[in-house]
Amino acid sequence: MKEFKIAVIPGDGIGVDITEQALKVMEKVAAKYDTKLNFTELKAGGCAIDAFGTPLPTETLEECKKSDAVLLGAVGGPKWDTLPGDQRPEKALLGLRGGLGLYANLRPAKVYDVLKSASPLKDSIIEKGVDLLVVRELVGGIYFGERGRRTVDGLNAAYDTEQYNVEEIKRIAHVAFKSAMKRNKKVTSVDKANILEASRLWRETVIEVSKEYPEVELNHLYVDNTAMQLVKDPSQFDVILTNNIFGDILSDEASMITGSIGMLASSSLREDSFGMYEPIHGSAPDIAGMDLANPLAQILSAAMLFEYSLGMAEAARDIEAAIERVLNNGYRTGDIYTEGMKKVGTKEMGALVLAEI
Ligand code: NAD
Repeated sequence: MKEFKIAVIPGDGIGVDITEQALKVMEKVAAKYDTKLNFTELKAGGCAIDAFGTPLPTETLEECKKSDAVLLGAVGGPKWDTLPGDQRPEKALLGLRGGLGLYANLRPAKVYDVLKSASPLKDSIIEKGVDLLVVRELVGGIYFGERGRRTVDGLNAAYDTEQYNVEEIKRIAHVAFKSAMKRNKKVTSVDKANILEASRLWRETVIEVSKEYPEVELNHLYVDNTAMQLVKDPSQFDVILTNNIFGDILSDEASMITGSIGMLASSSLREDSFGMYEPIHGSAPDIAGMDLANPLAQILSAAMLFEYSLGMAEAARDIEAAIERVLNNGYRTGDIYTEGMKKVGTKEMGALVLAEI
């Protein structure tokens, strides 16, 4: 029997509701593959501020480091909104990403056939299908570069710096090409190489790395054109590879195309198999604890955890197939409900998926 240690951080708000459902699914899938998962529940975010006076207690980070993977719910809420920036719940996310060295953020955006009507795009566009993966560099670029204030021409001015070194670009490019090899073998590298020097180095380096993946088709798009192409014809994309700031914006645009924030998972990875997995949505304080949250994004995050950190791709496919069957049978939480469907709460949605495993 294989055994893994999983750090579980439900966090705040609906993070707690959805993680409860995901853990049940994980246990059942693990048992099917003769695998034992040892869960350690940890605090981060607002609940950690309440309990320990800090959004990311040392114990949480240290326990995560000793684990094979981390499953995270969501953090934050109005109770902590008035705290100064560096003491807010969201600080825990940056602390976890940085502290665990997670430099690659993978966000799949897929439109399920039965949920096409949830997309804000026209039927004629969406019926071609959307199944793409945004691979975003997560710990470099302008979000981490030198910044400051200074006086220029007698006026108060501010600056932020976009900087990448060749190794940082190489390692994220490898993640994108390896992901493409498991998908439709196409990488679109997004930059602003007509203007930015950092983008020119990005493009040169991506071309170099691509030589190691002759089966993968590579093309380059400027970020402004990519923003347009995503709404004009998202079916053209397989893997989108991009830097921290462009990835931040494009991955939100891509998720909007699917029409449901409650369906989208993400993973943050590094060279080894370790990773942190979480839904892309926040803690949704407006529906927390009310049995209204869609747990599918978190259950899909668990599927990614099986695939990327535990090397159990088949288990991941089982979870995804179970979710598709539940959707095909007409069950919907409030966020994806349309007339004629069967409305269910968080717990029932979790139980339905569990029954399909
Ligand atoms: P949000 O994603 O929490 O909610 C946006 C809207 O989507 C709300 O109406 C919410 O009810 C709905 N929604 C979100 N997830 C849902 C789900 N699974 N099922 C059904 N409906 C869902 O974003 P927000 O309202 O901007 O932020 C709320 C709090 O979450 C804030 O404190 C914010 O800082 C935090 N936040 C945390 C993360 C994270 O932990 N990774 C990400 C984004 C926001």
